[in-house]
Amino acid sequence: MGIIVQKFGGTSVVTQEARCRVAEHVASAVNSGKQCVVVVSAMGRAGDPYATDTLINLARQVYEDTSAREMDLLISCGEIISSVIVANTLKAHGIDSMVLSGGQAGIITDSNFGNAQIIRVEPDHLLRHLSEGKVVVVAGFQGVTESGDITTLGRGGSDTTAAALGVALGAEVVEIYTDVDGVKTADPRLVPDASTIDRMSYEEICQMAHEGARVIHPRAVEIAMRRNVPLRVKCTFKESPGTLITYSFEAGRPWPSVRNGRPVTAVTHIPNLARVKLLTSEIPQELEFELFRSLADVGISVDMINVSPEAIAFVVSESVADRAERTIRALGLEVSICRGCAKVSIVGSGMRGLPGVMARLLQAMKDAGIRVLQTADSHVTISCLVKIENLELAVRALHSAFGLDNKSPLAEEKKGE
Ligand code: ASP
Ligand code: MG
Repeated sequence: MGIIVQKFGGTSVVTQEARCRVAEHVASAVNSGKQCVVVVSAMGRAGDPYATDTLINLARQVYEDTSAREMDLLISCGEIISSVIVANTLKAHGIDSMVLSGGQAGIITDSNFGNAQIIRVEPDHLLRHLSEGKVVVVAGFQGVTESGDITTLGRGGSDTTAAALGVALGAEVVEIYTDVDGVKTADPRLVPDASTIDRMSYEEICQMAHEGARVIHPRAVEIAMRRNVPLRVKCTFKESPGTLITYSFEAGRPWPSVRNGRPVTAVTHIPNLARVKLLTSEIPQELEFELFRSLADVGISVDMINVSPEAIAFVVSESVADRAERTIRALGLEVSICRGCAKVSIVGSGMRGLPGVMARLLQAMKDAGIRVLQTADSHVTISCLVKIENLELAVRALHSAFGLDNKSPLAEEKKGE
């Protein structure tokens, strides 16, 4: 009998009405003959009584410096509460179910409290309950160290729980249920025309997540990818197939979308960035690594890094721009910082090795009257930095230029093929 893992996010378990929808999805998996593992997030978002952020604030109101270990003990309760309430809802719908915490489900982690990595999964206990015909509800986002301390897996970590269990149990699919009906070609708040992507590759969704899309945790994708466990992002509140995420080749052949030369699958963005620029004519070479070392020492992560004999430029989050400026000046270096920037990225496995993608990007930006401040790329992404006031226009321009709008000329061309 096949195993299926269904993960429900905070908005899918926050009200009893939502939890009844959860029960319907579980019932339909059970009725189709699957053994079902349900992974849940804490109920709701900041302000809701048992949400993760609410619990964090609760501790902070009393004492600012709760240790990471104790904070993990506290916030792991959000998912435990949720799992019991969801299991009760399943029982009320006649579904035989039981609850396991992350540790009880065999999720063993290192002791990096607040952002623990899963070392291994020991699924025997869980499998025993599944074979008794029960639906097992597992509290997401948490594990246990070898010495029995409770840990959490980093914000958004319930996705990671679901993927790790999917791999350990050899699940047919891991379904990620949320409040949108799949992965969108762009953030619908910026692009009302954005559509749901029916199928995409692990590497695309991973890149999208790293470049600002919030639909699934990249660590979860990386785990699922190792064993080729398919992921499906679906809406709890709507019957729709959602987005299937798999390897981009089947039986050694690329998918039609890639073959048709659809180079871009989605446009993503990250706001609130600052561009840091130094002229290398003013900086001796041995100071180059010292510069990046000093930034690392004060915990600053850099992105869109460009080092050449003429200049050094990179991007940091706006919230650390002042700290970056002070750190660089302390080395006796002159630096100019441009705040109020945003990163816009096109993502697509189909662009690998395809000539003309950059040209089309720059033409779209020029036609929209937007100046590109800096670019960076990988085999499946091109990112450009723009002023934040151009963000919305830039996302729309690229969405349209790469045929993701139904109205765009490229989409018309494809229809006519
Ligand atoms: N409740 C946790 C969070 O808010 C984990 C999750 O929802 O995935 O980050
Ligand atoms: Mg999430």
